Amino acid sequence: MNSTDLFSTLAHRFGQLYSKLMPIPCLLCGSSSGNDCLCQACSEQLPLLGHACPRCASPLQQTMLCGHCLNKPPEQDASFSLFRYRSPIDRLIVDLKYHDTLVLSQFFATQMAEQLKKRPLPQLLIPIPLHPRRLRERGYNQSLELAKQLSKQLNIPVRHDILMRIKDTPPQASLPFAERKNNMKKAFQINNTNIPNHIALIDDVLTTGHTVNFAAKVLHEMGVKTIEVWTIARTIKNDHSP
Ligand SMILES: [Zn+2]
Ligand SMILES: [Zn+2]
Repeated sequence: MNSTDLFSTLAHRFGQLYSKLMPIPCLLCGSSSGNDCLCQACSEQLPLLGHACPRCASPLQQTMLCGHCLNKPPEQDASFSLFRYRSPIDRLIVDLKYHDTLVLSQFFATQMAEQLKKRPLPQLLIPIPLHPRRLRERGYNQSLELAKQLSKQLNIPVRHDILMRIKDTPPQASLPFAERKNNMKKAFQINNTNIPNHIALIDDVLTTGHTVNFAAKVLHEMGVKTIEVWTIARTIKNDHSP
């Protein structure tokens, strides 16, 4: 186990122990939430994605392929997102990513697993990696933390040494949409040839999809047959839903 893994495990264990001993206030409203990080009322009001295209997770009236996927399908074979990326999910994901609120990875994984266990499951979970330099700055990779929790809930192994980030790209969110595709070119490399046929890539948010698209492309090239993309939330253009 390297020092980053050790730090993340210790921080996580400490968080688990702390939350068992001390009732934690809800991260959104501050009221007592028992042993969970959100109270029941706040949990129930989170913006679920609902019916969506099975290939790209764009919201639709019914669960069917969207026009975009019929014309020009993305690299991944299936996508699952639980929430719409908007308030208060955006705030919670920022907390998970940058403010060490790792207890949220357990919360989100539990909610995602409830839905995911109804479908045929992949043989392996692969988190979208951070570049080593960014991992050192942040101390942990939120996608790996989420993948570890999903792994526990769904009983699927997780590997973070297969897909490597070899290009230190600026964060996608910091770039205009038009530049995001170029930013991700040649960002990934595969470190292992013994990969099962059906895998799921784990990330926090699915936005333009360029990041997962390039990761899925290198995995398909290695012979992986079915690649799913699982994220906590999906960004939706012009989201006017109530
Ligand atoms: Zn609350
Ligand atoms: Zn679609």
